[in-house]
Amino acid sequence: MTDGSNILKASYHTLGCKLNFSETSAIGMQLSGRGIVRALPDEIPDIVVVNTCSVTEVADKKGRSLIRRLRSRWPEATLVVTGCYAQLKPQEVSSIEGVDIVLGNDEKLRIAEFLEQWEADRRSRVAVHDYIDIREFRGACERGDRTRYWLKVQDGCDYFCTYCTIPFARGRSRSGRIADLVAEAEQAAEAGGKEIVLTGVNVGCFGKDTGEGFLELLKRLDAVKGIERYRISSIEPNLLTEEIVRWIADESRAFMPSFHIPLQSGSDEVLRLMNRRYRTDLFTDRIVMIRDLMPDAFIGVDIIAGARGETEEEWERSFSYSESLPVSRFHVFPYSERPGTKALAISHQVKQEDKHKRVAMLTKLSDEKLRAFSRLFIGTSRPVLWEHPDAEDEGVMYGHTDNYLRVRAKASPSVYNTISPAFLSGFRDIETLEATTL
Ligand code: SF4
Repeated sequence: MTDGSNILKASYHTLGCKLNFSETSAIGMQLSGRGIVRALPDEIPDIVVVNTCSVTEVADKKGRSLIRRLRSRWPEATLVVTGCYAQLKPQEVSSIEGVDIVLGNDEKLRIAEFLEQWEADRRSRVAVHDYIDIREFRGACERGDRTRYWLKVQDGCDYFCTYCTIPFARGRSRSGRIADLVAEAEQAAEAGGKEIVLTGVNVGCFGKDTGEGFLELLKRLDAVKGIERYRISSIEPNLLTEEIVRWIADESRAFMPSFHIPLQSGSDEVLRLMNRRYRTDLFTDRIVMIRDLMPDAFIGVDIIAGARGETEEEWERSFSYSESLPVSRFHVFPYSERPGTKALAISHQVKQEDKHKRVAMLTKLSDEKLRAFSRLFIGTSRPVLWEHPDAEDEGVMYGHTDNYLRVRAKASPSVYNTISPAFLSGFRDIETLEATTL
């Protein structure tokens, strides 16, 4: 005990995706149900939980250094490491000095049990199921720092893209039940939440295991009173059907005109090598359909630069395809080699310097797209959800429009967590527009 009381305190540290963040929050809730409270920043925790990521080599490295740092800061605490790095390399993680418990992704929401065992015998444990055996869906809904909640609706992936280790880290695709997810959304609304982002590894696969439909989930969530905005964190283009897009455009009350769709490459040959489930013609169809039905929609697109097989010729093809797309921005990721992936069998490797050049070109293209998209709305009004005050500039608030433009306006802090119209007057910087409240 650190303060002479019997109350145990835990501190939580998360790396990686929104799904991990929502699961850390679920771990915290589970432990608080057992009387273990969250340690304040200046308190010494009894338990330290690290929820790791393994999306790239760099993510593994960050995980290792975070674990070491936390161990040296709090030498007495029980140190639990979970998440994708723990799932994929449990022995490597358990060999880091001072790690007490290693839990795979399927075990992370059984943490209370493992802590009880630790209390009883103080024996280090590694509990990681093979990914093939990960079958159960464990729900999680996290309040972001601000007005937004992250609701996990799906986990795992059956796609096995050749460059990706996620199916090995998170297991096969599985989904929550609509009734449970609606109940979570209702609770979020009761707690004052205004916006929910639906998260998962491959969200569009929702319901393939349970027989429930993704569109049905969207419709049921749309009916939850109090939630004014929904967004889908990211959805594979082949799973974003015309039916879904039309429903969002024509009938939905609260699903916002903003989409995040992974392209990964604008070369059909590279998409084939990646084992992606679509080619550029399908991707173009989806983008054109969204633009036709929702001309104001924000469309963010993930793209990987320098993947194996991306020869100079395929890169040029990919870049000019990306240039032609009427999208709002790109999220650019340099290709990262992952041990154990099938992509390692593809012979053509991109030199580091070429990879850097491609990242730089795509980042510049993304800035141009974002500037052009944002410019379309200067001189117009949009509804804004006011999310947080400026840390330095008193009387200034930040928020997002319905179509995901970040804005900044002079406003009283009392507008926090409300939606009101704002006039967009010009650029503050590439990421932010100046606005005036109306
Ligand atoms: S769709 Fe492909 S890239 Fe995405 S998680 Fe599944 S295997 Fe990985």
